[in-house]
Amino acid sequence: MVHVEQALCADCGGCVGACHVDCITIVDRFLAIGAACDACNVCVLLCPTGALTSSTGPLRDWRR
Ligand code: SF4
Ligand code: SF4
Repeated sequence: MVHVEQALCADCGGCVGACHVDCITIVDRFLAIGAACDACNVCVLLCPTGALTSSTGPLRDWRR
């Protein structure tokens, strides 16, 4: 599960474009993770500000 720290989000949109199931939305600067999230953690890795954190343990090998 991905947690969003809204105060840290710089609204860059990088995670939105990177999500392979298109489940990240930003509306009025509020970022939400949708139910389709499969906890690949790519967004957690790429966020430049540390606004996203994962509670699902180690990074899955998403290249497979
Ligand atoms: S990558 Fe990080 S800073 Fe950029 S929109 Fe996503 S959560 Fe916000
Ligand atoms: S963990 Fe993966 S599937 Fe979930 S929101 Fe981030 S990029 Fe999308």
